[in-house]
Amino acid sequence: MKLGVVGLPNVGKSTLFNALTRAGAPSANYPFCTIEPNVGIVSVPDERVDFLADHYKAKSVVNATIEFVDIAGLVKGAASGEGLGNKFLSHIREVDAIVHVVRTFANQDIIHVDGDVNPVRDINTISLELILSDIESVGKQIDKLSKQMKSQKADSKLGEELELLQKIKIALENEKFASTAMQTEKEREIARSFFLLTLKPVLYVANISENEINSFFSSTESDVAGSLRELIDFVHEQNNQIIGICAKIEEELGNEDDIEIRAELMQMYGMHQSGLDTLISASYKLLGLISYLTAGEAEVRAWTIPIGTKAPGAAGKIHTDFERGFIRAEIVAYDDFKKYGNIILAKENGKVRVEGKDYVVKDGDIIHFRFNV
Ligand code: GDP
Repeated sequence: MKLGVVGLPNVGKSTLFNALTRAGAPSANYPFCTIEPNVGIVSVPDERVDFLADHYKAKSVVNATIEFVDIAGLVKGAASGEGLGNKFLSHIREVDAIVHVVRTFANQDIIHVDGDVNPVRDINTISLELILSDIESVGKQIDKLSKQMKSQKADSKLGEELELLQKIKIALENEKFASTAMQTEKEREIARSFFLLTLKPVLYVANISENEINSFFSSTESDVAGSLRELIDFVHEQNNQIIGICAKIEEELGNEDDIEIRAELMQMYGMHQSGLDTLISASYKLLGLISYLTAGEAEVRAWTIPIGTKAPGAAGKIHTDFERGFIRAEIVAYDDFKKYGNIILAKENGKVRVEGKDYVVKDGDIIHFRFNV
């Protein structure tokens, strides 16, 4: 699962991306690796994994991971080939979700491509490029399908696709994302094969200045005023999520190996958890992912599955044999495990359940699969 980090130049994407991939200081227990200069794998912080690892004194501990891609270079006019426009848009096409960084920090020394700091305008600039690119793609797909419809026997599937593309086209031409045209689960399913940029889930990240971040974290969101308020309202009106981060501070935290000094720094800025942890967790949610856990002395591990996955599918993550020969799953919810302190007491209190192949796995289920091949 990949997330693409996008935004105008000089909004703090690279600073954030570098902080993300450098947060891998061994002391922090966040292994990471950089596959290519602009691609990094980041492990998903999970206190349940930490607790179980400690409980079992596990020899190996494996967190869930997600991949971030720094997609630099998106500028006004990208859809018509400005800058390295189309190349960057094609990189966005390959990701599962978009993290859109928007600058709210003012700093005379750091040039803003449009002269001044105006987060809502900036979002609209980038959004318009994505929309224009999708209009082109939808146009081509409509032409192709229309031709197919003429040459083949009228196929109801093609008809459905064409109808949906036309509906999406209208939304795009009204400068709305394709996602706003989706009304049913079936439409979402059909639209997956269109590979449109504006169908992807988006998380907005406000890059807030080091002077403002303290009041941002210490206030409730409703106390926030000014351009940041305008930004939050704008994003919420679109039913999207936004988080606040200060890339500069994250960079500072990422460079600090000493856990105690990190904690002091965070306290100084009024932060409850690092912005990166917030970002990673929000991204995981954005992708519609949850984790189930396997736990024992040899290994404690979080396994990533999409929401709605049934037990055999979840088992298949570990090994295809587990799915093929699935018999049953023995499950204790993490909260019950924690409450009773160990698996024996959880069992005595009736909290270890046996589930079959139709069981939909929940976030935080600790599972032992029984299988036979
Ligand atoms: P990108 O073009 O979006 O990748 O932006 P960069 O990450 O390269 O950041 C552009 C400049 O802004 C760099 O000089 C950063 O040090 C600076 N910068 C990034 N984030 C912040 C921030 O939160 N506060 C301040 N004051 N400067 C920042």
